Amino acid sequence: MARYTGAVCRLCRREQTKLFLKGEKCYTKCVLDNRPTPPGAAKPQRGKPSEFKIRLREKQKLRRMIGMTERPFARVMANASKAPGNAAVVLLQTLETRLDNVIRRAGLATSLSTARQMVQHGHVKVNGETLNIPSYKVRVGETVSLSGKLKGNVNVNLAQEFCEKKAPRPSYLEYDAHKLSVKLLREPSRDETAFSVNDQLIVEYYSR
Ligand code: SF4
Repeated sequence: MARYTGAVCRLCRREQTKLFLKGEKCYTKCVLDNRPTPPGAAKPQRGKPSEFKIRLREKQKLRRMIGMTERPFARVMANASKAPGNAAVVLLQTLETRLDNVIRRAGLATSLSTARQMVQHGHVKVNGETLNIPSYKVRVGETVSLSGKLKGNVNVNLAQEFCEKKAPRPSYLEYDAHKLSVKLLREPSRDETAFSVNDQLIVEYYSR
């Protein structure tokens, strides 16, 4: 599976916004606070950005927030366009309920990359069955839990503390601290997703 392995703060500098890719550090020691310039830009760009560029940057922002490469992201967008309802909302709901994102939103990992690693290493179960596919879409009523090996794990404990302080769990998730599990009660609404982007611009980008 292709993935970006470069410096993630560079992506935030490129998009000129916090993408929250490093967990707690994004709240305490963010690179963007001290270095708000785009990477490699010797001079600021002159003139007004084109419509295309505005849409492209918005699409890139969301794609980088969820850590996907272009092809699978475009596939998710194509499926969202075919689904009944507002394509932008379906897109965000699909990304929000990916298995790796559910782990992060449940406060069991501080960042998406940590959550993804937990899934790939077989530490995550869906309805009691081990599942190692980070892109799996969690369905309403399904329960996601961590394997018993992670009970008392320092990083999981830190993630739970971090969640209580900085990133509270959304109400569409029912959390069980004793079992280290979370149940998806319903589909998240647009405002409950973790992505602060202009979703309409992204739909427009793909409907060119
Ligand atoms: Fe982005 Fe986090 Fe790095 Fe700040 S610390 S630039 S939010 S990844």
